[in-house]
Amino acid sequence: MKNLVLPSLRSFAAIFFPELCPGCMNTLHETERLICWGCQLTLPKTDHLWDFQNEVWEKMNQFVRVERVVSLFDFNKNSRVQSIVGSIKI
Ligand SMILES: [Zn+2]
Repeated sequence: MKNLVLPSLRSFAAIFFPELCPGCMNTLHETERLICWGCQLTLPKTDHLWDFQNEVWEKMNQFVRVERVVSLFDFNKNSRVQSIVGSIKI
């Protein structure tokens, strides 16, 4: 049986405590979870899944011999990626 009370309470609580996207600080839509669609589409993705000898792999291999290193996004200071990672760490 579908719970009808919980979504109503969430909507009511969102009036006073809206859920914000940690990347852009805009209010999240009901269908969005954690990160807004705008940020998901514009985050700087890498192609490390297909490029095995990428720059992260080269840096890591200077210290430890690894077969494969993958990063999903480019990380820069004061970027949306940093804001999102910071909100996850809390
Ligand atoms: Zn956002």
